Amino acid sequence: ELYKEKESLYIALSFARDFFVKNLRTEEGRSIGLSYFKERGFTQQIIEKFDLGYALEGWDHLLTAGKEAGFSEDVMLKAGLILQSESDANRKYDRFRGRVTFTIHNVGGKPIGFGARILKKDKNQPKYINSPETPVYHKSDVLYGMFQAKQAIRNTGNCYLVEGYTDVVSLHLSGIENVVASSGTSLTEGQIKLIKRFADQVTVLYDGDPAGIKASLRGIDLLLEGGLNVKAVVFPEGEDPDSYSQKVGSEAFAAYLEEKSRNFIGFKIDLYRDEMESDPLKKANLIKEVVQSISKIPDPILRSVFSKEAAGLLEIGEDILFTELNKSLLQNQ
Ligand code: ATP
Ligand code: MN
Ligand code: MN
Ligand code: MN
Repeated sequence: ELYKEKESLYIALSFARDFFVKNLRTEEGRSIGLSYFKERGFTQQIIEKFDLGYALEGWDHLLTAGKEAGFSEDVMLKAGLILQSESDANRKYDRFRGRVTFTIHNVGGKPIGFGARILKKDKNQPKYINSPETPVYHKSDVLYGMFQAKQAIRNTGNCYLVEGYTDVVSLHLSGIENVVASSGTSLTEGQIKLIKRFADQVTVLYDGDPAGIKASLRGIDLLLEGGLNVKAVVFPEGEDPDSYSQKVGSEAFAAYLEEKSRNFIGFKIDLYRDEMESDPLKKANLIKEVVQSISKIPDPILRSVFSKEAAGLLEIGEDILFTELNKSLLQNQ
């Protein structure tokens, strides 16, 4: 029974994907949706690769088309495609309206949800509206772009982790295909397990703003705890992988990643380098920060390797670092 319900949700979601994709070819879709994507530098090929689309303005375009195609309101509600009106029990309406759409696929390539972006800045509306949790979309187990990335992740042994849908699309445009997005939420154990099916290294490429840096730090510790080899790159203030790759071009972008990739120790040192040089207290804090991260690594041999590296880079005695590490390990228990 549950299997049957899931099947009907998958079919409804595929129908919605096709509907949004086809909308890009309507007059409204061309002049609003397609021109938005073109302005962002997205090619026809990349639009097709990612099933990008457009949700028409109006309350019930998808609802009406879905009903005509034989989908019940119940199925469309459960799929997260339509919403129930609060004031009128008989009224349902489209969740996504007047927005460009990003299809979220499962690892096998089936549509399981959507992210939909507003076209113009509007303080009264959220920039993105996303599908809710449904029986086929468990957000904590999904990474945007994994279907398009998995082969490249396997081939390179590395998975780039970005924040947003457009970061994934832009990296593909730059020829970098081993990339997935956490979609603005903090990383989960399920997502880390998913990455581990394909690679044992993650390079975190979060936005170059305070929120992005904070999320990187949290993400790095979770990834280390998951037994992954972790690298990170910081982008200039105000840039994200999409904006920066579009600004400097694919060659300079690839060179930037190459040059700025650090392991978690180097990443933290880089972050605090300026403050540290003028303030010994800050340096003590940094040492504790680095030790905290090392203590998350499950493999004791790796812990010891990184401890030695950290002692060297931080210019402190290995014995002091090991003492701190043992304290952290006890605290973690
Ligand atoms: P863009 O380049 O189109 O402005 P972005 O991906 O750079 O998009 P960010 O603000 O950096 O946008 O957010 C990163 C990700 O977080 C988004 O791609 C989206 O998945 C999610 N997100 C952002 N804002 C919201 C929101 N208001 N509601 C839900 N999710 C959001
Ligand atoms: Mn951001
Ligand atoms: Mn961003
Ligand atoms: Mn962006």
